[in-house]
Amino acid sequence: MIHKLFRRVFSQDSPVLVPDPATTKLRIIPRKQHGIVRNSISPCAIKITSGLQQAGYSAFVVGGAVRDLLLGLEPKDFDVVTNATPEEVRVVFRRSRIIGRRFRLVHVMCGAETVEVSTFRGNLFANKDNETMMHKHADEHGRILRDNVFGSQEEDAKRRDFTVNALFYNPDSEEIWDYLEGYDDIQAKQLRIIGTPLQRYREDPVRMLRAVRLAAKLDMQIDTATATPIGDLAPLLQNVPPSRLFDEMLKLLLSGHAQTSVADLRARGLYHGLLPMLDMMFTQPHGERFITLALKNTDERVQQEKTVSPGFLFAVLLWHEVLTAWNTRKDTGEKSTPALHMAMNDVLAVQEKKLAIPRRYDAIMKEIWAMQPRFLGRAGRRPFCLLEHPRFRAAYDFMLLRCESGEMDVEIGHWWETFQHAKGSERENMLIKIETSKKRRRRRGRGEIVTGDIANLNNSVSDTAE
Ligand code: ATP
Ligand code: MG
Repeated sequence: MIHKLFRRVFSQDSPVLVPDPATTKLRIIPRKQHGIVRNSISPCAIKITSGLQQAGYSAFVVGGAVRDLLLGLEPKDFDVVTNATPEEVRVVFRRSRIIGRRFRLVHVMCGAETVEVSTFRGNLFANKDNETMMHKHADEHGRILRDNVFGSQEEDAKRRDFTVNALFYNPDSEEIWDYLEGYDDIQAKQLRIIGTPLQRYREDPVRMLRAVRLAAKLDMQIDTATATPIGDLAPLLQNVPPSRLFDEMLKLLLSGHAQTSVADLRARGLYHGLLPMLDMMFTQPHGERFITLALKNTDERVQQEKTVSPGFLFAVLLWHEVLTAWNTRKDTGEKSTPALHMAMNDVLAVQEKKLAIPRRYDAIMKEIWAMQPRFLGRAGRRPFCLLEHPRFRAAYDFMLLRCESGEMDVEIGHWWETFQHAKGSERENMLIKIETSKKRRRRRGRGEIVTGDIANLNNSVSDTAE
């Protein structure tokens, strides 16, 4: 019965779905104008939209993918929206499952690909005077806690964040449906929030971070009305759960435009005490250069479509904290290696709460950090053992960043670069000869500088190679 009602309300021939030209400004843009070709859409998304349409529903590719294709970028993923309820989508596609309790979506699988299918959602707050609604579904700052209400296609467009993210593409007709002048904003390279900026940021302060990230990624200007309230509303980020901030910051760091985004976040005041991860980046003594280099490096890797490991990035972000804690422990007489391990645990325990970095990254961070002193051991079998370590590459890249940032002697970085690529006999010749401790003491007694002392002089890190 309820299903039937839904079908009637939302089905393609229902008047609810057909936008009323008198009240909306729906613009339908034909293929010859927008230029997106069907075969740039993932076959899985096409299979889903056509499957749903054949079953009598409406279905479109929506959001980031349409926007990216119009801008000549390669979409990361393809999202589909439909007027079918999650249960109805499940009936159409055998290989699918409903996910999420609050935001119920369907994951439809085709081969190895999964496409997210959501039902058009409405905006609970379309009527701003609806106080009761506000109390039940938002926190005291107006942040939306629940928005799982189905709606019409037009409502679905309006509850999205930016006009450029609210375009619908129908692979069958090859038309773009635009309710909010998003197409013109794409042409003008303008990022404009939908609705009243103040209200939309209150509903979800993360939109401020998205504005900065998307402007950098899409090379767009944030429109003035959209940008103006950001400075004043920045404190609202304090009410966002740390795990959500973490997810958004991770997207930003891995966007290929981390440097620009981070600089813009700082410029707009989305910073002190609001984004712990950003504070972490720039309040560590001597850490700024190291982190800036790492962001540059990460952006280059992403742009060259190379893999980037979030664990590596977090190891970078926290390294100077670890270094400080380690040095403090050594100053109080602790032995170098145990002091390093204790320092790593101390830093991770604090950061887990503050930055919400998931525990699954602990192991890689610890391995990268724990391997750092081993780059100082360049005698005997030690360099060969290090080379064999499964995490050598990550630890080596990390060590190079330390050299580049001035924390470590660049000569050591060069030595490892050569050693890695050298042949067997060349490697043996490169090894630093170890003297017996008796000889060492005698030479030191004569006032000579002994190999190993040089490393000590040049490095802030102890030379206890394991
Ligand atoms: P990306 O290229 O980073 O994936 P995206 O715009 O596709 O960018 P997603 O997080 O994948 O970002 O979101 C998909 C779509 O959902 C967006 O295009 C937008 O329409 C909508 N959306 C995402 N986050 C919000 C939000 N906080 N408020 C309103 N709408 C949102
Ligand atoms: Mg996306």
